[in-house]
Amino acid sequence: MSSFDSRRKKLNKLIEQAGADALLVTNFTNVTYLTGFTGDDSYLLASADAHVLVSDGRYTTQLEEECPGLKLEIREPGKKMLPVVARIVERAKIKRLGLEGASATLSLKESLTEILPNVELLTTDGLVERLRLVKDKGEIEATRVACQQARRAYEVVRATITPDMTELDVAAELEYRARRFGAKALSFPPIVAVGQRAALPHARPTQRRIGDDDFMLVDWGANSGQYMSDLTRVLVTGRISPKLRKIYGVVLKAQLAAIDAVGLGKTCEQVDRVARNIISRAGMGDAFGHGLGHGIGLEIHEAPRLAVGQKTRLQPGMIVTVEPGVYLPGWGGVRIEDDVLVTRTGCEVLSDVPKQLDDCVLES
Ligand code: ZN
Ligand code: ZN
Repeated sequence: MSSFDSRRKKLNKLIEQAGADALLVTNFTNVTYLTGFTGDDSYLLASADAHVLVSDGRYTTQLEEECPGLKLEIREPGKKMLPVVARIVERAKIKRLGLEGASATLSLKESLTEILPNVELLTTDGLVERLRLVKDKGEIEATRVACQQARRAYEVVRATITPDMTELDVAAELEYRARRFGAKALSFPPIVAVGQRAALPHARPTQRRIGDDDFMLVDWGANSGQYMSDLTRVLVTGRISPKLRKIYGVVLKAQLAAIDAVGLGKTCEQVDRVARNIISRAGMGDAFGHGLGHGIGLEIHEAPRLAVGQKTRLQPGMIVTVEPGVYLPGWGGVRIEDDVLVTRTGCEVLSDVPKQLDDCVLES
């Protein structure tokens, strides 16, 4: 059985538990997850009897390549999606049709109510997302590759950086190098923030020169095809001030302790708290203004979230970032981020860029 078959089989169980006969999957990322099809404008109608992908003629060849054996309904040019969906629902005698609450729109629901007056529409909550929480072998492998591509790109950029380069130059180099190492793209527009600008957790690269301050923060990742990596490192380009040494030490200690705490059965908020306590005890609690981490996968931010109030229990196969940070307006910020796979015995760090402060100093 292919991994897509086994995902669809698991989904059938969740559809049944939700009290529906079928689920109309309208979130394209979920469609990709369930079928391997990477195009858009296509819905999957999932039921115990059959899974049918409703698509259009532009994708016929791609569909044959990406999801051989999947039942297709190719709508004719000019034919709208919903009447085609409705015909399949009627043919399959579906009485209770689940919709994805997070992606189906009100107008979609109204239209379906109109063309399927005898079908009960149910709003479901994150059925496919629940499956996506735990990665299978292929997904873990693809994430490993994404981590390696990110590391190799960073190593080359680091070895060729000069003080005259701007934040934008470094961002462009990272993207180019990641692609040369086989990445489809970067996972997101990278953050390259020199000195004070590193106080903004989501700083966008500017014309500021690397040589204008003593350190910079780089947050980047590679997309190996479908799956993402997400890392952050501080790169010291000048001298290490006592303040930088102190703050870096606290953040690294918090990150290592949190990684140590990641394991089967721990809740997300427990892991967040480990890092938060260390940073708070150092008197910097107010400067750590975001959650500890997030899931990565087909999307760069997905469930689970490692944050206050998140009761989800970690399970083997989940992949999360661990990224504590301390940000001081007017001075700068330190964040250290790695990608971590939850295993039966604890966890495995998938991203392996060195992170002791001495490893982060640029040789001049
Ligand atoms: Zn990041
Ligand atoms: Zn992140």
